[in-house]
Amino acid sequence: MQLKKSLLSLALAGVVAVASTALVGCVSNTTSNSSTTNRSQLMLVSEQEVMTQSAQAYDEVIAQARAQGVLNTNKALTARVQKIGDRLIAKAPTFRADSAKWDWEVNVITSKELNAWCMAGGKIAVYTALVEQLKLNDDEIATVMGHEIAHALREHVREQMSTQALKQGALNIASLFGVSNTTLNIANTLAEVGVSLPFSRSHETEADELGLELMYRAGYDPQKGIKIWEKMMSLGSGNTGLAVLLSTHPADDERLANLTELAAQLKADK
Ligand SMILES: [Zn+2]
Repeated sequence: MQLKKSLLSLALAGVVAVASTALVGCVSNTTSNSSTTNRSQLMLVSEQEVMTQSAQAYDEVIAQARAQGVLNTNKALTARVQKIGDRLIAKAPTFRADSAKWDWEVNVITSKELNAWCMAGGKIAVYTALVEQLKLNDDEIATVMGHEIAHALREHVREQMSTQALKQGALNIASLFGVSNTTLNIANTLAEVGVSLPFSRSHETEADELGLELMYRAGYDPQKGIKIWEKMMSLGSGNTGLAVLLSTHPADDERLANLTELAAQLKADK
């Protein structure tokens, strides 16, 4: 599959980039807001490399969708999602100034998958079934898009790739001492990073917090918006085959309680 191939090249490029990057980064990439963390992040892979390769991967996804006749086919829904995207993107520089210069894109893909994602550099896709099957209102769409944008603003994929690259480096060192290398397995693992691997709990919490503040600043209602996660959870374990979003962004009662508290705080801060 094309996407998988491009993600693999993205992953391999990341490994190459780490080899040529002498600077070991441990920084926080977003400015502090009422809900934003200052957690230090391991950033071995270069930002530019991740951005460039993500843009290429995104172009492939979009070209493939266009060829299959599933790109932005529902004009009303596309306009609605893009309008919400524009409002969120306008507020993104509140959290990191350089995102004002990102080449943002928002596209809607007709699919039975319940999914949405934002690649590095602001490359967004929302799948029709997510909105139509869950009957999302604008606040809920803004919540899920805000959450995905937050992953990109915090560069969680770059951080995941850096962690993987570190493991790769450890394996290379091990190989010098005659320990068998599993480079291919690592490359395959890296290929999954991006749109199909679950984020860690700390990444999810950050994306929830930053994303909800983002949608709130864009003029949406966080208390109405977080209902999307209840809807996702109510699908139940027996019905999650196409609920890709739930498998990559696990939701449980604890997370829902945290979101409920956050939403109330944001509205109280008015
Ligand atoms: Zn997430």
